[in-house]
Amino acid sequence: MRILVIEDEKKVASFIRKGLTEEMYAVDVAHDGEEGLSMALHTRYDAIILDVMLPKKDGMTVIRTLRESGCDSPVLMLTARAAMQDRVQGLDLGADDYLTKPFHFEELAARVRSLLRRTSSEKSTVLTCGDLSLDTVTHRAMRAGKEFELTTKEYSLLEYLMRNKGRVLSRSLIQQHVWSYSFDTESNIIDVYVKRLRNKIGDDGSSRMIRSVRGVGYIMREPDEDSSSHESNSIE
Ligand code: CA
Repeated sequence: MRILVIEDEKKVASFIRKGLTEEMYAVDVAHDGEEGLSMALHTRYDAIILDVMLPKKDGMTVIRTLRESGCDSPVLMLTARAAMQDRVQGLDLGADDYLTKPFHFEELAARVRSLLRRTSSEKSTVLTCGDLSLDTVTHRAMRAGKEFELTTKEYSLLEYLMRNKGRVLSRSLIQQHVWSYSFDTESNIIDVYVKRLRNKIGDDGSSRMIRSVRGVGYIMREPDEDSSSHESNSIE
């Protein structure tokens, strides 16, 4: 999952980036409202963390413009403890949640998970598909009771696929949600990672959960799902 952090205080921004990266998210940072707005309109982020006091465009202007432009990414606003009015205004302009500064990273991480659940059909913190499970709090991945280790990108890719179970995901969509700007993506990187992921989770044979969709990308499906439907004709 990919998150945009719009925060001008370098120390706070890098603290959030570091923490979220450790939580296996792809993270982009913007240091003013103008840059943040342009990034948020250009990429469909899974969540946006937006500071209120920002140079060039303040957080209120950013959230208002985002919602007016039809951007529906969940937004968590960072406000000053004393500024009750900011919290009310932010929520009324379309923010989904707020957190007052200073905060503990654990709370920010929990609020981000909560935002990601709102836009996902998966409401549990543990994502499942067949006998595969991914705990989004502890980051433990298990298949049939056996735990396996994933790299950050493998985890991120699996989380994105599992959160969108049953949906055909194009390669460009997967790239947008799993890789940040700073990551140099080669054209076949997604296929390479899918292959690695399949090997790690032992996903093969006719009951394969991560299916290729010819000319498009991939879909994650429950292993016992009916594969004779019209749509799946092109699924390998
Ligand atoms: Ca600020």
